[in-house]
Amino acid sequence: MSYQDLTGKVIVPKDPNYDEARTIYNAMIDKKPAVIVTCKTKADVINVVNFARDNNTEVSVRSGGHNGAGLALVDGGLVVDLSEMKAIAIDPLSKTVIVQPGNTLSDVDAATHEFGLALPSGIIGTTGIGGITLGGGLGYLSRKGGLTIDHLLECEVVLSNGNLVVANKDTNPDLFWALRGGGGNFGVVVSFKFSLIDIKNVYAGPMFWPIEQAEEAMVFYDTILKTASNDLYGFFAFLIVPPAAPFPEHLWNQNVCGVVWNYTGPIEKAEEVFKPIREFGTPILDFVSEIPMPALNGMFDALYPPGLQWYWRAHYIKELTPEAIKVNVTHGSKVPTMHSTMHLYPIDGVCHDVANSETAWANREARWAQVIVGVDPNPANAETITNWCKNYFDALIPHAMGGAYVNFMMNEGQERIKASYKDNYERLVQVKTKYDPNNFFHINQNIKPQ
Ligand SMILES: Cc1cc2nc3c(=O)[nH]c(=O)nc-3n(C[C@H](O)[C@H](O)[C@H](O)COP(=O)(O)OP(=O)(O)OC[C@H]3O[C@@H](n4cnc5c(N)ncnc54)[C@H](O)[C@@H]3O)c2cc1C
Repeated sequence: MSYQDLTGKVIVPKDPNYDEARTIYNAMIDKKPAVIVTCKTKADVINVVNFARDNNTEVSVRSGGHNGAGLALVDGGLVVDLSEMKAIAIDPLSKTVIVQPGNTLSDVDAATHEFGLALPSGIIGTTGIGGITLGGGLGYLSRKGGLTIDHLLECEVVLSNGNLVVANKDTNPDLFWALRGGGGNFGVVVSFKFSLIDIKNVYAGPMFWPIEQAEEAMVFYDTILKTASNDLYGFFAFLIVPPAAPFPEHLWNQNVCGVVWNYTGPIEKAEEVFKPIREFGTPILDFVSEIPMPALNGMFDALYPPGLQWYWRAHYIKELTPEAIKVNVTHGSKVPTMHSTMHLYPIDGVCHDVANSETAWANREARWAQVIVGVDPNPANAETITNWCKNYFDALIPHAMGGAYVNFMMNEGQERIKASYKDNYERLVQVKTKYDPNNFFHINQNIKPQ
């Protein structure tokens, strides 16, 4: 069998669209696959998996292409490109949606919002539903609705032997457990079924404080989230104010700290909830108001178009101790370029109602997933953003839990993967050994079979 026999659109290096097809979100990644197969159907995926396995070809799996480490692509191998599998079927009566892996978070939002429903997921609309779900899924609705995997009801998966199987709580429950956090280790997921929550409009947006108030702002933020209901969400950030509307010109290019809030409780109570927040310090920007949920989910999409250089590192954080806050302020105040930033994403609220053993995602006792992101359009600044990121990350090691959210990890080695899955790692190895004994799917945060 040769490449010509494959179904799906086959793209090889001599094709004029090859460079476009191997371009992913992070422009720092420059991998050169031997072939990219753009699948349209489940049969295409089965065919490609069988072809690659029978020809001893390495494969990577691409959905949205957002993975920071570039795990959607493989040098010299075959990319199973799912980005054109974009069907979505919503059932507003059962409040469920079936999503193919080529959809982005914006696609899912657009389908669900029409019915006043939402899927808890991430904060940038262009992210692919495939990778974010299999790694966990953190975002504006985490405190109220949990992780994306907490809404996963069923997957259809093409295994390394080419079989298409269903995984849910009754059928292949071990696989279903592993898919909820274990990443792309077990097969190609060709369909996800999710439950949805009732969300239409929210009271949300960014609020900034001067960088000089960062230490007090972090303490205040920590305290308010500890006591607030799960209706209030906010991720803390260090950033540089973008030099563009709608930001006021006198703030352009200033280093500031801030929180992007999302309040999902009764709208008539929102002003009351935000009164103490607005009274803290001297907010220099307050864009918090009633907006549709998709407007919040897409708020930063224009600021982060595809094609920027990205380098990021991540931690799980249990406590924002005074020492940790000092480290954050020291490094966070020195965000090196306008797109670079640090975010602390809450993973408390209802995320804590699920035991670590219930899904492969093993860090429910954490209060935040922290990500330090060096971002810039200019490759000449790659070293600057990478060094800032690494130094900040290193300084936080004594204050972090060990391990990181796999969707925020670069290629950091096996020990770090084990540290991220903790007590669930051995069980993941067993599931991997059963469903992918030869480690056919290994271009990922890899769990090695026995
Ligand atoms: C700008 C930006 C914002 C982000 N914001 C958030 C956020 O708010 N919350 C959050 O949780 N994460 C966030 N992330 C991280 C994101 O979850 C990961 O980058 C994730 O891998 C993206 O999914 P994708 O489908 O786009 O990835 P891809 O790069 O296409 O795939 C990444 C890996 O996932 C696996 N994979 C993907 N699809 C499948 C599939 N269908 N079957 C089997 N394996 C598959 C494969 O191992 C693949 O290598 C963000 C990333 C970026 C770049």
